[in-house]
Amino acid sequence: MGEFDLIRRYFARPSQPEASGVSAGTVVGIGDDCAILQPTPGMQLAISSDMLVEGRHFLSTVNPAHLGHKALAVNLSDLAACGARPLGFTLALSLPSVNEAWLAGFSHGLFALAGAHACPLVGGDTTRGPLNICITVFGEVPPGQALLRSGAKVGDELWVSGTLGDARLALEVFRGNVSVPAEVFDAARMRMEQPAPRVALGQALRGIASAAIDVSDGLLGDLGHVLRASHAGQGTTGGVGVRINTAKAANLFASNLIAANGHPACADGHFSSKMQLDCVLAGGDDYELAFTAPAALHSAVLAAGLSTSTLVTCIGQIEAEPGVRLVDSEGQLLHNSYSSFDHFA
Ligand code: ADP
Ligand code: MG
Repeated sequence: MGEFDLIRRYFARPSQPEASGVSAGTVVGIGDDCAILQPTPGMQLAISSDMLVEGRHFLSTVNPAHLGHKALAVNLSDLAACGARPLGFTLALSLPSVNEAWLAGFSHGLFALAGAHACPLVGGDTTRGPLNICITVFGEVPPGQALLRSGAKVGDELWVSGTLGDARLALEVFRGNVSVPAEVFDAARMRMEQPAPRVALGQALRGIASAAIDVSDGLLGDLGHVLRASHAGQGTTGGVGVRINTAKAANLFASNLIAANGHPACADGHFSSKMQLDCVLAGGDDYELAFTAPAALHSAVLAAGLSTSTLVTCIGQIEAEPGVRLVDSEGQLLHNSYSSFDHFA
C-alpha cells in the first residue's frame, strides 16, 4: 500500500467544512498542501506539539488503539492546561512498515478521542522510519484568558483534578518492582494507556484559576514550573513556594481506594503507603491539571468541577517562601526527598 492509499484509508475522514467564516472550523482538511482553519473571529490561537517515541514513551506491545488515544490525549491535555478549546490537529507519523491491523487500531483510538472532543485531524505527514508519533494540536482561547504557569499568587489554593499516581503504579508493575491484584493493575494500566484530558475543566477554569499546568512528569516536578514562573509580589523575582497536605494528596491515589475495598494484598506491604505517596507526588503520566486559584474562589472551583463532572481536590496553599513544603494532616513538616521523572536523567 502506498503513502496516499494509507492516508486515505486510515486517516482521511469526511469533514464538514464550516466555510462561513463566522464560526471556528476546518475550511480545508486533509488533501491539500496546507489545512485551512477558521478560528472564531477575535480569538487567540493556542498551539502545542507532543512526540511519542517507541521505547521511550511506550512499549511496542501496547494496544495500538490505546496508543492512538494517548498520542492525542497528551496534546489535548496541553490545550486543557491553557483553558483552550480544541480546533483540530495534525499527525506526523513515522512507521517501520505498513501493518494494517496496527493502523486500523491506532486510527480507531485516535478518532474516538478526536470525535469526543470535536477536534478533527486536518493534515500531517507519513514516512517510513522508527515508530514515532508527533501530533500538533490547535485550539482557541478568548484574548488574555489563557491559563498560564506564571499567575500563582501568595495565598492561592493549590488544586488537582482527578486522581494521581495510578499510571506510575502500572509502570512499576510492568517493571516488576511491585505486585498488586489483577483488578488494581488493570485499572492503573487504563490510566497509563488511556488518560482523560481535562479539556472541559480547563475551559471552565478561565477567569477562576490564576495558574495551571498539566501533570505529565510528576506533580512536584510540574508544580515547580508554576512556582518558578510565578512571583510573590510586584517587582519581586525568584518565584513562590507551596505547602502541600500529604494526607489530602495521598487520597488522590485511586488504586488506594480500590485497595481499601477488599484487596489486602495492597495493604500488607506489597505496595506501601510511602510508595503510594511517591506515585502521587512524583509518578508522572497522569495528565491531570494542577492549578491555583484565589481562596475567595474556592466554591467557584468546586462549581467548575461539578459542571464538568471532574473531581477537583484542594491539597495546599501558595506561600511567599520558595520551595515545596510537605506537611502531614497535623501540619507537621515532612522530609522532602521527591524528584520528578526526567527524560534526560
Ligand atoms: P506534501 O507533500 O504537500 O507535504 P503529503 O503528500 O505529505 O503532502 O500529504 C498529502 C496530504 O495528506 C496532505 O494534506 C497532508 O496534510 C495529509 N497527510 C499526510 N500524512 C497524514 C497523516 N498521517 N495524517 C493526516 N493527514 C496526513
Ligand atoms: Mg509530505
